Amino acid sequence: MQADYILLALSPVFAIAILLEYRKAKASYTLKEFALNATLALSHQAADLLSLILLMPMFHWLYQHGALFTFEINGYTLLAAFIIQDFLYYWFHRASHHCNWLWAAHIVHHSSINMNFSTAMRQSLFYPIVGMWLFWLPLVLLGYTPELVMSIVALNLAYQFFVHTEHGPQLKWFGKVFNTPTHHCLHHAHNACYIDKNFGGVLIIWDKLFGTFAQPEASQPPEYGVTDRVYRLSLVDVLLTPWILLARHVQKQPTWRAKLKVLLGSPKTLE
Ligand SMILES: [Zn+2]
Ligand SMILES: [Zn+2]
Repeated sequence: MQADYILLALSPVFAIAILLEYRKAKASYTLKEFALNATLALSHQAADLLSLILLMPMFHWLYQHGALFTFEINGYTLLAAFIIQDFLYYWFHRASHHCNWLWAAHIVHHSSINMNFSTAMRQSLFYPIVGMWLFWLPLVLLGYTPELVMSIVALNLAYQFFVHTEHGPQLKWFGKVFNTPTHHCLHHAHNACYIDKNFGGVLIIWDKLFGTFAQPEASQPPEYGVTDRVYRLSLVDVLLTPWILLARHVQKQPTWRAKLKVLLGSPKTLE
């Protein structure tokens, strides 16, 4: 699939960025964690490719039978697609922090106590199962081809690789509109003042519009990782423990209604 090739084609750029960062910030890298994050990236890409192969026929059916508009692809319609996809990403990301079903996949990205470019690669292979792709369907229904939509998703994720560093430039003016390392480092922090803030992908304006924007506070240097437990540097622990803990909570519930409420409820209610 074209979308997976975009990230593959950019991988030398990611590798150079990691090498340059490693020279500056050796302390935030360990071989064990780097190997774990790289394995998570590869397994995530494989799951993504497999899910696209399985889902593309359904996307095409929706495009052919359900698309609301027909229009040509030019600079304006392409720009609109990028902005709409980033808007949808904001809501996917925000939902991932407020719904246990989605959080069980997204927590993998947040379970490192370090913040560097390799954290960007730390992704769960369960995203296709929890239904991340559902969030891109509005673009297909608007009349964008599934291939174009998935390519835009890949480019959005490629941009986000570069906000995972503590050693980026300040980017003050740029950061008024776009997501920057400064904004995203706070998103990974578990200090009370930064929790559930800065969900933006490429644009930070969504956080400003919808009340989830945070700026760095001098007295609160970001502390990375999740609040409920410290995850071991093990593929099984990082990928499966969140599902085991969620399954236990669901199992404890007396009724189906209560079980569903836990599945769709906020992670905060489990702590
Ligand atoms: Zn997040
Ligand atoms: Zn991140």
